[in-house]
Amino acid sequence: MNRFSYTRATAVPQAIDQHRANATAAFIAGGTNLVDLLREDVTHPAVLVDINRLPLRRIEATDAGGLKIGALVTNSALAYDDTVAARYPLLAKAILAGASAQIRNVATVGGNLLQRTRCHYFYDAGTPCNKREPGTGCPALAGVNRIHAILGASEQCIAVHPSDMCVALAALDATVHVAGSGNGTRTLPFADFHRLPGDTPHIDSNLRDDELITAIELPEEGFAAHHAYVKVRDRASYAFALVSAAVGLELDGDTIVNAHCALGGVAHKPWRDPEAEAVLRGKRLEAAVVRDFAAMLLRGAQARRDNAFKIELAARVIARAFELAAQRSFEEAAS
Ligand code: SF4
Repeated sequence: MNRFSYTRATAVPQAIDQHRANATAAFIAGGTNLVDLLREDVTHPAVLVDINRLPLRRIEATDAGGLKIGALVTNSALAYDDTVAARYPLLAKAILAGASAQIRNVATVGGNLLQRTRCHYFYDAGTPCNKREPGTGCPALAGVNRIHAILGASEQCIAVHPSDMCVALAALDATVHVAGSGNGTRTLPFADFHRLPGDTPHIDSNLRDDELITAIELPEEGFAAHHAYVKVRDRASYAFALVSAAVGLELDGDTIVNAHCALGGVAHKPWRDPEAEAVLRGKRLEAAVVRDFAAMLLRGAQARRDNAFKIELAARVIARAFELAAQRSFEEAAS
């Protein structure tokens, strides 16, 4: 049984101080992943700092023409926000492709970024796992690895990030706002927020121990006219992506002016390649161009025993997402 104490913060500096006071403290908001981790004996915080009363539930316009989303905005509130639905429908669709309605009603934006992998071994405290206990090994390397990474993995960990929302945030070039001790604040480009596993798979993100996510900022461009989120999973709902793709296009007729494409379910973080996207600019949007783009985005993909299918699946998901994004009246991604 995990014994922990509970405290509640009403201001960001207070929450950070309460968290800093104990090396194993954890922030809790919606708790939709943390409570699982406690139940499964994966994590053992001595203190839970409840941040639900912090003033971080606003969605507001920015001077730069974008949107700033408080870290405690729930997934449901964000997906059904009028401005998000109208200007950032890619984000709304990715959120609604994830979890269940009940979970989305309490899960928060900040928590979504910090959720842990769903690797089976990670949740089985009876097996070794480098992410749970550094230096103990990775049984997924030679074990059941159908859901695991094909890109950016290491011999220490081949887990994938489970979020749908983060795939859309990566494609939208979001920025993460964080607060630290001493009233310090900083921003991280979304691409730099999550980490690849390397030799430190137990560290999922570049958030420092004394920092708290306070908001996510979206730029002005939301790709409302041409976007798609395509998610392939083992069942129609309440399942994590085997492969997903978030695509936003700016088109001039059938010529690509700008293209963003992030993949989910394939790596330790949403997978994007600005170099591959740059090659698309000025090209006609046609199947062969998208096929070449997919090959470039997936270069270096490495199959494990059970997940070779993900490489071809990813290429097909990319093709489908571009096809749907090109259709202005796109309503529903394949699933
Ligand atoms: Fe642990 Fe990562 Fe290996 Fe899964 S893939 S068992 S999370 S080290």
